[in-house]
Amino acid sequence: MKKTALVMFIILAAAVGLVAQQARWVKGNTHTHTNRSDGDEYPHRVARWYQDHGYNFLFITDHNMVTATAAIDSDAADDFILIPGEEISFSLQRRQVHVNSLNPRRPAEAREGATVAETLQNAVDAARQAGGVPHINHPFRRWSLSAADMKGLRDVRLMELLNMPRESNNFPAGGRSGTEGLWDQLLSSGLLLYGVAADDAHDFRGEFLPGLAHPGKGWVVVRVNELTAAAVCAALEKGDFYASTGIELSDVVCSEKEYRVTVKPHRETRYTTFFIGNSGRELARVDGLEAVYAFRGDETYVRAKVVSSMGELAFCQPVFVRK
Ligand SMILES: [Zn+2]
Ligand SMILES: [Zn+2]
Repeated sequence: MKKTALVMFIILAAAVGLVAQQARWVKGNTHTHTNRSDGDEYPHRVARWYQDHGYNFLFITDHNMVTATAAIDSDAADDFILIPGEEISFSLQRRQVHVNSLNPRRPAEAREGATVAETLQNAVDAARQAGGVPHINHPFRRWSLSAADMKGLRDVRLMELLNMPRESNNFPAGGRSGTEGLWDQLLSSGLLLYGVAADDAHDFRGEFLPGLAHPGKGWVVVRVNELTAAAVCAALEKGDFYASTGIELSDVVCSEKEYRVTVKPHRETRYTTFFIGNSGRELARVDGLEAVYAFRGDETYVRAKVVSSMGELAFCQPVFVRK
């Protein structure tokens, strides 16, 4: 082989190697309790449940404390990481202001404000000061948070769209919008938030009952180059993930021109993808495994939502569109 050809071959091989190491999708849960707060199971057994059920990462978020995780996550060679967290938790009358601090360096020092909005911002700021990524939890549990409370928020990108326990009021009924409606209101006002699905798991023992907060119901799938806490947090903060209650996606790609979602088929299940824009307006719907939406330029934002014939959901993140 000539020298130049050999050099070309090495460059090509290196490029192929890079492709092989490129980003992959990893599954995880961002909100979990143990018996260090009001969960019913030891931290190591909680971690074990998620690892045994195909998850790649888990945040432990006990109330107002950072549960130690380093000693539990002892095997660096497996394909699972346990990441510390804290659920900063306030009650104002009956309303709850709960904000996760993901992967902090230390426990948060947050104080209650005069209003729900102020308390919420204080919790977000306290998470940041502790080195954590803030994550607003179950906005509609006890109808605690409104768009008015949230629209002035600064320095936060993550909101629970689906908190799986029963009292979270995720869906629209009784004259109230669901959390998806709240999300569209906030996006339409120009506040960029990414939607998370999380178990908020508390109940690992005993009976499997609909009213309990069992693990395995809602999760995020995050695109990372390496499985580290920093990489997972960075991908969450830039919206490089989707939320799911069962649907698996092969890919989500946004270019300047279009938003493309590819669903991974599962047996005979059928799928429809909805593209949604300003004020929650449906821009397009596409049946099948491959859905593409070409941006027009006047949508304000575009996000994608996939529903299945099994009643499962997947939410892809919004992108703001400029003319
Ligand atoms: Zn909570
Ligand atoms: Zn919780």
